[in-house]
Amino acid sequence: MVATSQPFDDRDGWIWMDGKLRPWREAQIHVLTHALHYASAVFEGERIYNGKVFKLREHSQRLIDSGKILGFDVPMTVEEIDRATEETVKANKMVNGYVRPIAWRGAEQMGVAAQQTKIHVAIAVWDWGAYFGAEAKMKGLKLCMAKYRRPDPATSPCLAKATGLYMICTIEKHAAEAAGYSDALMLDWRGQIAETTGANIFFVMNGEIHSPTPDCFLDGITRRTVMDLARKRQYKIVERAILPQEMAKASEAFLTGTAAEVTPIASIGDHKFTPGAITKNLMDDFDKLTRGAG
Ligand code: PMP
Repeated sequence: MVATSQPFDDRDGWIWMDGKLRPWREAQIHVLTHALHYASAVFEGERIYNGKVFKLREHSQRLIDSGKILGFDVPMTVEEIDRATEETVKANKMVNGYVRPIAWRGAEQMGVAAQQTKIHVAIAVWDWGAYFGAEAKMKGLKLCMAKYRRPDPATSPCLAKATGLYMICTIEKHAAEAAGYSDALMLDWRGQIAETTGANIFFVMNGEIHSPTPDCFLDGITRRTVMDLARKRQYKIVERAILPQEMAKASEAFLTGTAAEVTPIASIGDHKFTPGAITKNLMDDFDKLTRGAG
């Protein structure tokens, strides 16, 4: 897909960077920034609903936790990140949109070793509608299978929301879109179903909700929120290893994520699903929770 929107470095507004709000176009870094060369960066994705960031505290905490996994301390407390986020939302007069906090190693040292680098933090916000478009929310997504697999926890810091882990996601998202799909479902290193390039997955099987155990990919904040909503409806939730051939037994399937929210799936490769009552109820419950609407 060709980007048709205004480039992200040439917009009006304010970006919070290293302690203060700066004019959008002035939030710049040097080309010899360690994070650009060695992926020493962690980030978050958050949504603003009616002027308020959904689950802000959890996201700010995950940013700190992800930094720790990569071996650095984000130089802010969780309260300071929350406050800076709220300040950024307010300065940009953002009522509904997306938030991108990022923490990264700077340019003080170059090479694999980076102990002397300073940790920088920035927070940007922008307008962002339905991740897969409004039509997908009605009809369901068409997904293909990815070639790359989510790596073994022994080979990557897979529970961090770290930039380097998205290298295979961008490759797979591009391949999917080039072949006429919206996204790709990734298996894990064992051949079990994992997640898509930017969202968690659920299947409805015999009236129960099944989701892969998040032991080598992000246990999304939206994933946990939707599970709570499902429990409130007395739906049975099963977290377990799910093999790709089991998709034949699923009647419904859907994705969850900050950007994706709850999005139904119409097909994955040859497997067809019918977005049904359980998906619709959880979409409605999630909408009510986030937007306070029906
Ligand atoms: N998996 C991946 C790879 C993601 O990028 C995201 C989005 N952050 C998720 C899952 C869902 O996480 P969350 O619900 O916390 O946004």
